[in-house]
Amino acid sequence: MKILITDPIHEDAINILKELGDVEVATNLSKEELLEKIKDADILIVRSGTKVDREVIEHAKKLKIIGRAGVGVDNIDVEAATEKGIIVVNAPDSSSISVAELTMGLILAAARNIPQANNSVKKGEWDRKRFKGIEIYGKTLGIIGLGRIGQQVAKRAKAFGMNLVGYDPYISKEKAESIGVKLLDSIEELCKVSDIITLHVPLTPKTKNLIGEKEINLMKKNAIIVNCARGGLIDEKALYKALKDKKIKAAALYVFEEEPPKNNPLLELDNVICTPHLGASTDEAQKSAGKIVAEQIKKYYLES
Ligand code: NAD
Repeated sequence: MKILITDPIHEDAINILKELGDVEVATNLSKEELLEKIKDADILIVRSGTKVDREVIEHAKKLKIIGRAGVGVDNIDVEAATEKGIIVVNAPDSSSISVAELTMGLILAAARNIPQANNSVKKGEWDRKRFKGIEIYGKTLGIIGLGRIGQQVAKRAKAFGMNLVGYDPYISKEKAESIGVKLLDSIEELCKVSDIITLHVPLTPKTKNLIGEKEINLMKKNAIIVNCARGGLIDEKALYKALKDKKIKAAALYVFEEEPPKNNPLLELDNVICTPHLGASTDEAQKSAGKIVAEQIKKYYLES
């Protein structure tokens, strides 16, 4: 059996997969190389770097399982895989804590201008006035999407003394209350009352541009918006305009519509802080994602 791994995964996961067959780790493949290598692979393991589209799936002659060592499967054409009877497995809970911790990091970084102040000190400046920030204690955090990550963020924000409101049409008021979040009836309401807004919803046709000009116009003048979920959830053009015109205070982003961002004007703004797509980039999340997926695949082969 040939197991093709096209994005870096934890070595513990590779060792589990080696029990099943010959493992080939081939990262940074061009599309042509991937189309060639996939032909005789039985199992394909990816993270978010490899795009497994219909063309890739059609080139696969023996493929039975695609393992996504991570959370979302938006880089995989699940419909095309299903049509060919290929199983897609992922590790939905592997990075919830890592993403929630980075979300808190970005909230604090934006509230206290930490990246800008860091750059300034390293340039030899010592300007305390310019970087005066705000406390997050007592502020209202609006959490859009109260699933695995949203709930972990709620727990941590509660510990900072924040007031929590949330919007998620698929969870009950009681569930939200049990984690200290007041569930609101609309995103509009959440935008109006929140000092800081954080997104934790999947990107789907329904959630594309969930935050656009209309929603931004409802936000407080000092609002901070954080996107640690997926690029495309916020309309980047509307966000750029609002930040440039100082309609809101700041944005903290580690996901973009196009990754890596190219000629993205948001990166030129002082009130935007960002990192590359780092949410799941911790030792713990990567180890857990790889192991969960490898164990699922092993179980499938042992039981079938
Ligand atoms: P989850 O499925 O547990 O939670 C998502 C929540 O969003 C659910 O409770 C759902 O009811 C809610 N939701 C769906 N549509 C909504 C809408 N229109 N408005 C408000 N709420 C809505 O997912 P999760 O594990 O918490 O992850 C959330 C998202 O974060 C993922 O879909 C993924 O895009 C992103 N993510 C990114 C990274 C990373 O940066 N590496 C890692 C993990 C997850």
